[in-house]
Amino acid sequence: MARVGYGLSSFSLAGGRCGMTSDGLQALHDEIRGCAICAAELPLGPRPVVQVGNTAKVLIIGQAPGRKVHESGVPWNDQSGQRLRRWLGIAAEDFYDNGKIALVPMGFCYPGVAPRGGDLPPRPICAPTWHRRLFDAMPDIELTVLVGLYAQRAYLTGAGRLGANVAAFADHLPRLCPLPHPSWRVVGWMRRNPWFERDVLPALRARVAVCLGRK
Ligand code: SF4
Repeated sequence: MARVGYGLSSFSLAGGRCGMTSDGLQALHDEIRGCAICAAELPLGPRPVVQVGNTAKVLIIGQAPGRKVHESGVPWNDQSGQRLRRWLGIAAEDFYDNGKIALVPMGFCYPGVAPRGGDLPPRPICAPTWHRRLFDAMPDIELTVLVGLYAQRAYLTGAGRLGANVAAFADHLPRLCPLPHPSWRVVGWMRRNPWFERDVLPALRARVAVCLGRK
């Protein structure tokens, strides 16, 4: 189905999950919080920001924390997060319920600013180091939302350009849904691609509602 292509070995998003006790997942989360693999490359130092829960139904794989998220330690605690919640059709209360939603970016720490502006890419060692163990510990995931090209290149079979990936959303649902990154830059993209609001968002909201037991 979908596989990692972000630098290291491939594995499926769809199978082989063994589950884990909440204590085991907490121990893994604590291990991640102590990770300093990229310390020498991170301008503000390591501060992994993830949200995981062993009964989570929806997994959101984003890019990497921005500076504001790094400072707060709260994932998607910015305007991009507000837009993402509108897209998903859920309130912050549900979004931050780790029994429902898991928030696992491609890189867990703020990577710093690129020379030409914008944030640097997620640290490439992060996903291959941690994702498999985390995903194995969350056996109830019914929908994985791939936010942005980094997640799509990692987990979407045949991933190409962003617009084509998102336009093919119906081929990937109900298990996967590719999305653009919901930063301010997406506003112009949405104007040029009205099918996104018309077709993709209603299908996404309906699927999220089913996963969260609302339909
Ligand atoms: S980006 Fe990932 S691998 Fe690198 S220090 Fe942070 S948690 Fe560790």
